[in-house]
Amino acid sequence: MVDLRIVAESLPKTRKKYLTDSYAKEMITDIVATFNERGKKYYLVSRETIFHPLGGGQPSDTGFILGENFQFRVKKVLDVNGVLFHYGILLKGELPQGDANAKLLLDWDKRYKIMRIHTAGHILDYAVNEVLGGEFETLSASHSAENAYVEYKIPPSLKLDLRSLEAKANEVAKSCLQVRVVFAESNDIHEVLKNAPNLRRLPNLTEYRIVVIDKVNSIPCSGTHVANTCEIGEIKVLKSNETPGGVAIYYDVYP
Ligand SMILES: [Zn+2]
Repeated sequence: MVDLRIVAESLPKTRKKYLTDSYAKEMITDIVATFNERGKKYYLVSRETIFHPLGGGQPSDTGFILGENFQFRVKKVLDVNGVLFHYGILLKGELPQGDANAKLLLDWDKRYKIMRIHTAGHILDYAVNEVLGGEFETLSASHSAENAYVEYKIPPSLKLDLRSLEAKANEVAKSCLQVRVVFAESNDIHEVLKNAPNLRRLPNLTEYRIVVIDKVNSIPCSGTHVANTCEIGEIKVLKSNETPGGVAIYYDVYP
């Protein structure tokens, strides 16, 4: 077994291309290290990546890494103290010893659906506040294509009408609002934030990445989003479940 926390200490932090360009489907970069897990299973570390790792409510991207002499299937990506490990299976050839060029290639259809779902999650945050008339924290979220939900800290006494929630969310989505990413230093962050939940749980950083949907909300987030709310399509609120801390709202986007 490879101890990722130990090997990460001697590696450069991976440049995360998806933070500034969520639409990059492929890129050429260098492989800086490879680690054999067992058999054909490896971890690959590249200088830069377009693969979003598991975390922040977002599932890991999948795809391929293709070199001159190898084909590698990326099954999941893990962020260990800023070093991104692409875990997967060597399909063909041999991995390079030392630095070598390779092409990273995302499973784009899957990623794009996640971008639509994730952006719809930001809109749900707004719609919950609007429909219930208050500010409600989020407790957990999953922006996976198969099982998307956001869990809100809503007291059991408040009844959330799902059809009103869905209507409000779609009203925003269909307004074709721009979704922008801005970077702000910690001193300036409160000038940029708007309707952002969970500020008490904000990690201590020197710089924050904030996802801004004009007129809706501005939320610190490291995930991938669409550039315009029209790309989301139709938001369907599927069901709600009471949880120990509040209510989980399950949703999907169509087509
Ligand atoms: Zn986000």
